[in-house]
Amino acid sequence: MPAFKTVRGMRDFLPKDAERMRHVEQISRELAQLYGYGEVITPVVESYDLLAAKTGEEIRERMYAFEDFGGRKVALRPEFTASVARLMATKMRNKPKPLRLFSVGSLYRYDEPQFGRFREFWQANYELFGSDKPEADAEILMLTNDLLVRLGLRNFYFKIGHMGILRGILVKEGLGEDQQNSIMQLLDKKRWEEALVIARSAGVSQNCLTTLKKIFEIRGKDVFGVLKRAEEGVQDYEKAVAAVKNLWEILEVVGGSGVELEVMVEAGFARGLEYYTGIVFEPYVSEIEMALSGGGRYDKLIELFGGESIPAVGVAQGIDRIVLAMKKQRVPPRIAGERMVVVVSIEKESRAKAMELSSMLRNAGLAVEVEVMGRSISKALSDADRRGVAYAVIVGPEELKERKVVLRDMKKREQRVVEIKSLCEEIL
Ligand code: AMP
Repeated sequence: MPAFKTVRGMRDFLPKDAERMRHVEQISRELAQLYGYGEVITPVVESYDLLAAKTGEEIRERMYAFEDFGGRKVALRPEFTASVARLMATKMRNKPKPLRLFSVGSLYRYDEPQFGRFREFWQANYELFGSDKPEADAEILMLTNDLLVRLGLRNFYFKIGHMGILRGILVKEGLGEDQQNSIMQLLDKKRWEEALVIARSAGVSQNCLTTLKKIFEIRGKDVFGVLKRAEEGVQDYEKAVAAVKNLWEILEVVGGSGVELEVMVEAGFARGLEYYTGIVFEPYVSEIEMALSGGGRYDKLIELFGGESIPAVGVAQGIDRIVLAMKKQRVPPRIAGERMVVVVSIEKESRAKAMELSSMLRNAGLAVEVEVMGRSISKALSDADRRGVAYAVIVGPEELKERKVVLRDMKKREQRVVEIKSLCEEIL
């Protein structure tokens, strides 16, 4: 038989790495509860047309698309937003607003594998439907900040822009949506020169080119100073001015909330997903060049899927990259061995008792491994020691007669005889 390997771009997660991924997932789930986001579970396989409708060209080309045995054109989901928007346009269309939905799981894109970029990856996704108010945008931003803080990340900042700034300019110049989208895709990749070439060939005015060039350079951490410059820069384009004002309001709410958020406003920042209409943002840490998450407002998507017009804002937290950032910043993982207990019986006769005590400790919420290899006490203990186990319970006939066992603190290398009835309290 050949030695099977994982398919290119796909990964196995061995226990330590799996635990890190699940830890981020768990904290993101807790956060969803704290902010009132109800979980929805949608299928990994969706119709190709749904997924292709409004994601950018790039994602469209990289979908794992195929025909199923029934001749349907389907694809593995490359993102959550399309599925959640489908729900909003159909089964959930009559639910009272606002509606907050959470989803978490794996996504698939035929990207070129590299550091931080995989063909199967995980996101925790939050979407807030029904509000076009700055508070809603602020909530999504602050929730993202909250997640990263709770996970122990430090020194991260948010790159923030607004699709309305660029679209506002291009619309007034008479550019159609497709032309706008190709320009946005290039800007997402920081290919400013090429974006200008496309704009020029689409026949925009000289004033527009000058404005765009200016806009591409307006960025900085002095939030309101940057916004002021952006507003002046786009003064001939009313919709772009309105977009800057909207961003101003959102950041005013965030700023006034008392939550400290490091923000870098970039007037020419665009994200590749075509459905964005308002604020767009990405958090970064200096240790990794790639965005940890991606979020923004998309007010037209539900309508496109046949629903009513429902404003929406959301964020996709990239679990894989958050884990990479935590490793780079040496955020200690939750130690699996901590409070882990091994239960070892000295002889065959007490092995059933060892099982019974293990159940008792687990019922008290402790993680317990029972010795199943029939090893000697010293071998079992040195193995427990190597794995960083916190306590060993040694079950032997002498102590059992008095309803006692030996409890060994593995770190302190001390042991004493304790009564079985107080064993849980001794460990907790
Ligand atoms: P997007 O859905 O493109 O807005 O991406 C949102 C977040 O998902 C990114 O910031 C990444 O953290 C994560 N992400 C997107 N594509 C990949 C990928 N190929 N591999 C790993 N993470 C990804």
